[in-house]
Amino acid sequence: MKGICILGATGSIGVSTLDVVGRHPHLYKVIALTANTNIDALYEQCLEHHPDYAVVVDENKARIFKDKLQNSSIPDIQVLAGPQALEYVATLDTVDSVMAAIVGAAGLLPSLAAAKAGKIILLANKEALVMSGAIFMQAVTESGAQLLPIDSEHNAIFQCMPVGYIAGMQAKQARRILLTASGGPFREMPLDQMASVTPDQAVAHPNWDMGRKISVDSATMMNKGLEMIEACLLFNMQPDQIQVVIHLQSVIHSMVDYVDGTVLAQMGNPDMRIPIAHSLAWPERFDSGAEPLDIFAVRRMDFEEPSLERFPCLRLAYEAIAAGGIMPTVLNAANEIAVEAFLNENVRFTDIPIIIERCMKKFVVTEAGSLEIILETDQQARLVSRQIIEDLNN
Ligand code: NAD
Ligand code: MG
Repeated sequence: MKGICILGATGSIGVSTLDVVGRHPHLYKVIALTANTNIDALYEQCLEHHPDYAVVVDENKARIFKDKLQNSSIPDIQVLAGPQALEYVATLDTVDSVMAAIVGAAGLLPSLAAAKAGKIILLANKEALVMSGAIFMQAVTESGAQLLPIDSEHNAIFQCMPVGYIAGMQAKQARRILLTASGGPFREMPLDQMASVTPDQAVAHPNWDMGRKISVDSATMMNKGLEMIEACLLFNMQPDQIQVVIHLQSVIHSMVDYVDGTVLAQMGNPDMRIPIAHSLAWPERFDSGAEPLDIFAVRRMDFEEPSLERFPCLRLAYEAIAAGGIMPTVLNAANEIAVEAFLNENVRFTDIPIIIERCMKKFVVTEAGSLEIILETDQQARLVSRQIIEDLNN
């Protein structure tokens, strides 16, 4: 039996992970579940999965949660508080696999700790990888950690790679990756209407049900930009080897183009339990709970090239990786601040790329040589982005 720690258990990916784990109780023991503030959801999860540890990052909520457990049928679960507790539970000896499903930069330190501790890392938290790049991949290689991608596209690519492939390796016979994208809810909206898009419209994704931040990223296509960078790192490829393809039906989750002209695609319903189950069972397979694909209901598949005019965030992601060094860290931090401001209705949807571009222009590219430099850059870029938002609103 494998021990699993789920970082971000109460989010969309966390909930889907517990759904899959619950189908295979003889294979997985839940060791730790973590949440930021949502203690009601965490409580229900604790009742059902009985972990050894529950982490609540918010100290006040953690105190309330502890009291609640004391007077419940599960008083023996250890409650820990604060961000350091995330690293503690991600590196426990009893933990074999860590689901990294915290959203944003907050997931970096615990995911990196799991990588350094040589765990099996199921990586959903793409922001952590984008912001730390080579440092993260180096930690994985040095410790012998196994990195399995959860992002549906990267999981698809991983499945289309040669037998024995491990993340970070160069697959010489693979010449190109076709990274699929749904195009989000605004693919056809007249450009002059994009400025008045509301948060509710932006988070209503046509094919996938996800957390709010990634849903906005999908609408701007920054999600695909982050995924392009993620793909370069995970599959050791250059940006010009990654072609973004808008594929409306979200049935093909990405493709690998080989030197002999073979193109391998992975298909399935748009249900995150499929990549999650793939990684949990790897190298075997087991039931995910997802419906079998009804190919006759799909009927047809469409493909289009994305417009960089409509989706400037995608262009910015290509510029950030071309610049290299700290620039992907800046891109990610500026995006997190801009999306948060949009969700709080402080800026317009179309301000998101403007904020990111202005922020990137304020930084000179230097090497992202250490974790300290990355964390410092992340903080600086957040301050700069907040200032840009203030200036925009004055
Ligand atoms: P979500 O918003 O639904 O959940 C986020 C989780 O992170 C919650 O459990 C929350 O408690 C925790 N969290 C938030 N802020 C935190 C903080 N400061 N400290 C500690 N924990 C914190 O997000 P999601 O949609 O599940 O996405 C999680 C990650 O997976 C993201 O990086 C996203 O890009 C990636 N991802 C998600 C999907 C999807 O279908 N939802 C698909 C591919 C990749
Ligand atoms: Mg994805």
